[in-house]
Amino acid sequence: MHPDSLRRESLLIATGRPDRTPAGPVNQPVQLSSTFHAGGERVYGRDGNATLAAFEAALGAVEGGLVTAFSSGMAASTALVEALPVGSVVVLPSTFYNFNRTLLDAQVELGRLSLRTVDVTDVDAVAEALPGAALLWLELPTNPMLVVPDLPALAAAARRHGVRTVVDATLATPFGIRPLEHGADVVLHSATKWIAGHSDLVMGTLATADEALDTELKARRNLTGGLPGALETFLALRGLRTLSVRLERACGNAAELARRLDAHPAVHRVHYLGLPGHPQADLVAKLLDNTGGLLSFEPDSVQRADQVCARVRLITHATSLGGVESLLERRGRYPGELRQQTPAALLRLSVGLEHVEDLWADLEQALS
Ligand SMILES: *Cc1c(COP(=O)(O)O)cnc(C)c1O
Repeated sequence: MHPDSLRRESLLIATGRPDRTPAGPVNQPVQLSSTFHAGGERVYGRDGNATLAAFEAALGAVEGGLVTAFSSGMAASTALVEALPVGSVVVLPSTFYNFNRTLLDAQVELGRLSLRTVDVTDVDAVAEALPGAALLWLELPTNPMLVVPDLPALAAAARRHGVRTVVDATLATPFGIRPLEHGADVVLHSATKWIAGHSDLVMGTLATADEALDTELKARRNLTGGLPGALETFLALRGLRTLSVRLERACGNAAELARRLDAHPAVHRVHYLGLPGHPQADLVAKLLDNTGGLLSFEPDSVQRADQVCARVRLITHATSLGGVESLLERRGRYPGELRQQTPAALLRLSVGLEHVEDLWADLEQALS
């Protein structure tokens, strides 16, 4: 069967495997080698390896683009930022993943870049900020407030001004949205999260449909040494194979918990893509294929939020997201979050694959 006729769930399973050689392996083995026999295309370990090529092919098939994997999501961000000429202007959301904000701020301090911060839900405000810029940075949805920008409108405006659009779609995954289909030039993922999915490694990816840009990104990764380790890459590919089913369970759990938290007397507010009151509910319906496994909620005080973190027994009090286990933390414990107006009591809950009734029982006892 020609791969083009396969649905994404099948491509995720079928792509990135060795040729069907009798007695050959079905899975791409971990290829641990820092050098390769002379005479071929691959010369040295920093150029890549067969495990990496398999992971990139599988993710590329579901993303609809060419993938370059990095040693972390931040290394992927750095590869993009570092490619900008000195003096470039970046248009960025007023609130998004705070380490990427810190990365861009550090570039400003070095005198390399300047930033224009915008409310990305205001298409006109973004369009006004675009002339003369080099890069429009979007996150869809944003971490941890779950804001959804109008990607097709913003990417079209950026293109009119010759501005490249990058979309950090870590929270959505390629099964939530494929930003390249909506006009983005580059997609960024922290593969640490849903893609690898087991909280056991750190990796990042960039995807693009532009072959010249892909070549440039791979050359930059080689120069700056941001290649992920082959063991991590193997585990990330193993995790990626189950992404669509893991997400299905996580989304179902998250939708139910969001609904129940929304009705809880000790909870002031719930942020979830699947709640009817989501401020961009129309865009969620238009752009996203599911409502995701991440929710944020604001207990009625910071004390109660800290109490929830201390009292959960099934859920783990720890940072990060996208693993099989549910993780919860108060984002306001990071100064960088408060600077971005994240509510101090806000708890971010990454919903895992446990039974939803056990998760709810844990949240209920922790909130009481
Ligand atoms: C975690 C995260 C990153 C950074 O990725 P690392 O793999 O931790 O370096 C970038 N963007 C978002 C939205 C994230 O959640």
